[in-house]
Amino acid sequence: MNKKEGYAGIDYFRMIAAFLIIAIHTSPLATYNNTADFIFTRIVARTAVPFFFMTSGFFMIAEYNYNADKLKTFIKRTSYIYGISIALYIPVNIYNGYFTADNLLPNILKDIVFDGTFYHLWYLSAAIIGASIAWLLVKKIGLKLALIATAIIYIIGLFGDSYFGFSLQIPFLKSLYTNLFEVSDYTRNGIFFAPIFFVLGGTIASEKWHLSLRNNLIGFIVSFFLMLTEGLLLHKWGVQRHDSMYIMLIPCMLFLFSALTYLRGRRSSTLRNLALIIYIIHPMLIIVVRGFAKTVGLQALLIDNSFVHYLVVGVSSAAASFILVALMARIKVEPKEVCVYDGTDRSWIEVNLDNLMHNARVLQAAMPEDCKMMAVVKAEGYGHGALAVSKCLNKIGITAFAVATIDEGLKLRQGGIQGEILIMGYTSPMRAKELHKYELTQTLLDYDYAVLLNKQGYIINTHIKIDTGMHRLGFNKYDIDKIAKTFKMRYLKICGIYTHLCVSESLEITDVEFTHTQISGFYDLLDILSKQGIKLPQTHIQSSYGLLNYPEIECNYARIGIALYGVFSSGNDKTKLQLDLHPVLSLKTRIVLIRAITKGESVGYDRKFIATRDSRIAILPIGYADGLPRNISCGNGSVLIHGYRVPIVGRVCMDQLTIDITDISNTEIGDIVTIIGKDGQDEIFATEVAENSDSITNELLSRMGGRLKLVNY
Ligand SMILES: *Cc1c(COP(=O)(O)O)cnc(C)c1O
Repeated sequence: MNKKEGYAGIDYFRMIAAFLIIAIHTSPLATYNNTADFIFTRIVARTAVPFFFMTSGFFMIAEYNYNADKLKTFIKRTSYIYGISIALYIPVNIYNGYFTADNLLPNILKDIVFDGTFYHLWYLSAAIIGASIAWLLVKKIGLKLALIATAIIYIIGLFGDSYFGFSLQIPFLKSLYTNLFEVSDYTRNGIFFAPIFFVLGGTIASEKWHLSLRNNLIGFIVSFFLMLTEGLLLHKWGVQRHDSMYIMLIPCMLFLFSALTYLRGRRSSTLRNLALIIYIIHPMLIIVVRGFAKTVGLQALLIDNSFVHYLVVGVSSAAASFILVALMARIKVEPKEVCVYDGTDRSWIEVNLDNLMHNARVLQAAMPEDCKMMAVVKAEGYGHGALAVSKCLNKIGITAFAVATIDEGLKLRQGGIQGEILIMGYTSPMRAKELHKYELTQTLLDYDYAVLLNKQGYIINTHIKIDTGMHRLGFNKYDIDKIAKTFKMRYLKICGIYTHLCVSESLEITDVEFTHTQISGFYDLLDILSKQGIKLPQTHIQSSYGLLNYPEIECNYARIGIALYGVFSSGNDKTKLQLDLHPVLSLKTRIVLIRAITKGESVGYDRKFIATRDSRIAILPIGYADGLPRNISCGNGSVLIHGYRVPIVGRVCMDQLTIDITDISNTEIGDIVTIIGKDGQDEIFATEVAENSDSITNELLSRMGGRLKLVNY
């Protein structure tokens, strides 16, 4: 998904699907040829409803996404539409004698839950039930098993639908379905029919279906003709009780929908609303057209000619829907101007996702052709919010992420992040099952660790870490036998092998020499492994400075952390590659109190600040518990207010700090103060704050988090 544009193809097909559904209810070809009409309305047009289900599934269901918000919104919206539609058709129900039938109450209940109170309205209840079942299954057992489960349910439905004739021959099945039809008129409902299409939509959204446009189209054409054959045979044998469900409908829809996702462009909510309204009101227009034809004596043309009838109903439904959509747009009330709490009342981090994407593109462009960015998002994405950062990068096509701990990895997966998530640090083998279940990739810290993890009996994706001189984590590069043995372990899938450089930020000659021994040591090892017949997995060496100072290294990944966030570790670092990187994070707070201090009075702990003149001191609600280092106290740091620099005075406390604003007029409570970032002409870089506290930006940024609110823009 490299393109920013929306899925326009899906919106266009909504209109086609709406007209297919009108065809089902008007039999356009009946006047000319019954078989042709059967093929068109009972087979071809049967793709329409599954398409609508898949569309909803596509936007709502994704593997690992445990957030129920989208489902709730969908159920709410669909229930609302269902309620209005039921009300809309009550006059027709009355006219048809619906309310004078026996067993009224049980029938109404049955209709509301399964069959619809008017014949096409079953779709809305099926959407609610189907979506809920699909969502729950995917959450509980994962996408793959949910697909199998809903396929089984679909097959059960099939034998009450197009294949019912076969069930009639088996007494047990016959009585089973007879009982079932007491509760729901058809198996074409929210339980047996809809769920699989929601799951299929989610499967495509989760990028678990990788076919090119061409192969999807070939697949569609082949399965479409097989479906035609299937439908005609079943029709000929007379086994169909109803004709909504075919075996070939499943592959047919999978190929078709996947092909449609290739058609990109601007999304159209008008088409979406039009299709929905056409779906709901077209039966009404069938009644209107018939009434009109009778009144003006045009039955022969408008009713008896099925094709003209179809066209007139179709065009008038579209026209009526168009008018309704236009009217709705006109009466749409402007949302009230409510003050929304946006998290900027105390102290907050502003994350500029445009700059993040810019940096990602610049860094990716600096890598050799076959090298991909592995975005390092440990420690809440260096304070930027790991999930929001990863989602944003996922959208522009980055599919490899690195974190330090399993819980960081889980958070990303459960937030819906697709692709590889490498845990670079230690994970207890006790958590092997989670590694397996959430498809997290674990770093193998050394041989003993690999043995222990393998013993847990779960298939786990791993990368082998090699120690080439840092002497922290990793197999010793000379332990060839142990490394080779690890490749043969039964449960560990070795997807990568990597090392880490320890002085890559330095361009001093001895440091460069050391780094070259690390790099060549790693490649020598790879050579030996290759010669032993081991197929090499993905390789990676560089972190940010590794890339900036050794851009010639040709690996499969570069693990980029600090540079992605647009800053250097220290301000005076010089690098071989000079890239145009933009800082992503700003740290801001607001004045909560201003007090006057007389000359000679002190401010804060230890009385470290004594006023040498009558002063105005502003109190800011941010302290070292928010990640601001305590040693920027006492004039070691400054902040920006209204574009001017003012000093931090006294000691930074756990939750507050004090600044001297004597020289700045017009300051008020609530004014924004910038601690990192730009204000007017001046800018404070993270490197400056890091240096003022004798540290590096990596430490400074990764410690922020906790209490600070994150605001993305
Ligand atoms: C943190 C980390 C990185 C990222 O380092 P940056 O200097 O922030 O790019 C890469 N590799 C490993 C093993 C790390 O721990």
